[in-house]
Amino acid sequence: MKIQEADAKTLLVAQGLPVPDWEVARTPDEARIAADRFFGAGSRQVVIKAQVLVGGRGKAGGVKLAGSPQQAELVGSSILGMDIKGITVRKVLVGPAADIVKEFYLSAILDRAARRILLMGSAEGGVEIEQVAAERPEAIVAVHAHPTLGLLDFQARRMAFAMGLGGYLKAAVGIAKGLVATMRAYDADLVEINPLAIVNETDEDGTTRERLVCLDAKITLDDSALSRHPGLEDLRDPDEEDPADREAREAGLTFIKLDGTIGCMVNGAGLAMTTMDLVKRAGGEPANFLDIGGGARADKVAAAMRIILADPKVNAILVNIFGGITRGDEVARGLIEARAQQERDVPMVVRIVGTNAEEAGRLLAEARFDTAASLDEAAAKAVAASRAAEHAGSARSAGTPA
Ligand code: GDP
Ligand code: MN
Repeated sequence: MKIQEADAKTLLVAQGLPVPDWEVARTPDEARIAADRFFGAGSRQVVIKAQVLVGGRGKAGGVKLAGSPQQAELVGSSILGMDIKGITVRKVLVGPAADIVKEFYLSAILDRAARRILLMGSAEGGVEIEQVAAERPEAIVAVHAHPTLGLLDFQARRMAFAMGLGGYLKAAVGIAKGLVATMRAYDADLVEINPLAIVNETDEDGTTRERLVCLDAKITLDDSALSRHPGLEDLRDPDEEDPADREAREAGLTFIKLDGTIGCMVNGAGLAMTTMDLVKRAGGEPANFLDIGGGARADKVAAAMRIILADPKVNAILVNIFGGITRGDEVARGLIEARAQQERDVPMVVRIVGTNAEEAGRLLAEARFDTAASLDEAAAKAVAASRAAEHAGSARSAGTPA
């Protein structure tokens, strides 16, 4: 689960990391009021940042500065409602603008192969790290944290020196260790600070000093560990969750959308993968990975069908159920119920074996479903149905005058 910058910053602050103050605004009015507070506290400029779960907001025009509360309102109204990579901006972060001296990159990810948290840092911050990795891999410093003790002091110091942060050793060590602590505290997959920045700060008496702060924050949480952190579920942003993903999550289905045309409904992750492989071998492209799980009842099957059909590219459906805990007749009932509610008529091929397969076969035959005895046959039929639908579609559009 990806969380918004403002929420990620809240988690960083809770782990003791240095983050400039901020407020979240949902309207230009709120942006002005928030800005007013920061100007009142001595800021000369505020920064206004689109809160969307995509990278590169700066380049897309989603990060701007304002010199007065009125200007903050204007900038707020220009960013709110903006489309960034297909996502509408519904809220902005408002904070005192940083006077940046230099930008760095620092992140922690879960390195599954090494079974450790991997820290990566670079003096080339601000830009996309993928670009740095491709062009100048030597500019990236990488260190694995100790699996039980976390990032050790000497590791953090070595990393800070290698990144050119020797002059900010204490702060840099604290931040690097804080990233690992954040990963562990919330079961995160990724904590990324880009930029980590040296900024100039001016005190009320006019003296300036340099400080190392987290200017941007991106955190991805491990979905499977969310049950261990009940409060974090609240950080899921309903503005940005795909409706199909939401329905799947609420119905307890594992669903991943793909680009093909053949919708797949399968029980068990391994069988779902195999089904996708066989669809490909038969010359088709799966539209999704969908695991209805063990013991799925009719209502779950109906939900799965709605999710599959919500994808307009789907022009054939392959149902492959291996009954163990899952009862074939329950699935068949679910399919019959789903077809009764179905608004779009899409050819479907069903293969059910295992527990109560005979009863399932009888129900499906009565309801005139197209069935298959083997998975190869089912895949071949689904691919043929999808091709036929494509030809019918292109014949139709060719026959329609422009
Ligand atoms: P991203 O583009 O989505 O990663 O958003 P960032 O928060 O990283 O902002 C992009 C860029 O905007 C940063 O690399 C900075 O150069 C700039 N930026 C962000 N915040 C500030 C700020 O407070 N002051 C100034 N001067 N520039 C900022
Ligand atoms: Mn950034």
